[in-house]
Amino acid sequence: MADVLLSVEGLTRRFDVSKPWLNRVIEREERQFLTASENVSFEIKRGETFALVGESGSGKSTIAKMIVGLLEPSAGVIRFDGQQMDFASGAAMRTLRRRFQMIFQDPFASLNPRWRVEDIIAEPIRTFGLLRGAEISKEVGRLLDLVGLSAADGAKFPHEFSGGQRQRIAIARALSSKPEFIVCDEPTSALDVSVQAQILNLMRDLQDEFGLTYLLISHDLSVVRHMANRIGVLYLGRLVEVAESKRLFTDPQHPYTRMLLDAVPDLALSGRRRMPVTGEIPNPINPPSGCTFHPRCPKVMDICKASNPPDYPTSTGTAACHLLAPQEVASTGR
Ligand code: SF4
Repeated sequence: MADVLLSVEGLTRRFDVSKPWLNRVIEREERQFLTASENVSFEIKRGETFALVGESGSGKSTIAKMIVGLLEPSAGVIRFDGQQMDFASGAAMRTLRRRFQMIFQDPFASLNPRWRVEDIIAEPIRTFGLLRGAEISKEVGRLLDLVGLSAADGAKFPHEFSGGQRQRIAIARALSSKPEFIVCDEPTSALDVSVQAQILNLMRDLQDEFGLTYLLISHDLSVVRHMANRIGVLYLGRLVEVAESKRLFTDPQHPYTRMLLDAVPDLALSGRRRMPVTGEIPNPINPPSGCTFHPRCPKVMDICKASNPPDYPTSTGTAACHLLAPQEVASTGR
């Protein structure tokens, strides 16, 4: 489909977390693997914001890193604008890399502290050979202006800016290679609440102006609600629900999505009681059998402990829960 910019199919990443060989032999232990992402599939249309949400340890950042080429998948296919990413081909990846960028959670850690801001922003322009000489300085000034800073700020170092301003610099840097797609990994979670909205509004304005496509990674449903057209909910490396944003907030289908939503503060003052998220994400090295959410699920059935639910279609996406199975299937497990 022409309007799909990024598609991810069966994306899986396992990490070998085994002890050294000699320890394993002495202690008679098998090799151990941690599955950070398991058979994840989704599509992002051109110009939309797709969000991946989940608690810490759900695999969000692993998926983001695989998409931008910082981590190689153990299995699965990533296609950008119809072209399959070939991690073994440096030349092909370099061409694709100009077209997508990443904004990280901590703007201080992602900006080289020894470089002036103008050099930080100019680096992708130089790397990809987009402009030369005086044109580069002019473009850096334009980008700084675009993100709400001034061209004179280019002469300063990152430590001379506040957290919000540093994230503006990171956004200017991300825009400098004229990308079509930006992966935003918790872009505001290191910032004060008052600054978060300014950065999110800036990101939305830039999206409208340049037709950008975003993959937004966040644990914060309020941020996601403000930004996303569609949302994917991750639990223990698996996508358990995908839905249009409005639908997900008004009619969540998966018990885990419901649990996350119940924990969001009631800013509309509707009188709804806030329920804290209960339990913890299990150890991904040794995940629970069947539906991995079953030890925490208030609606758990016998079948849930034995069988991993497939993705069932919902009104605007899919959800992986036995409650959505045709009645006769669910009832056999009760
Ligand atoms: Fe809960 Fe069972 Fe649905 Fe898993 S499959 S979310 S345990 S009801």
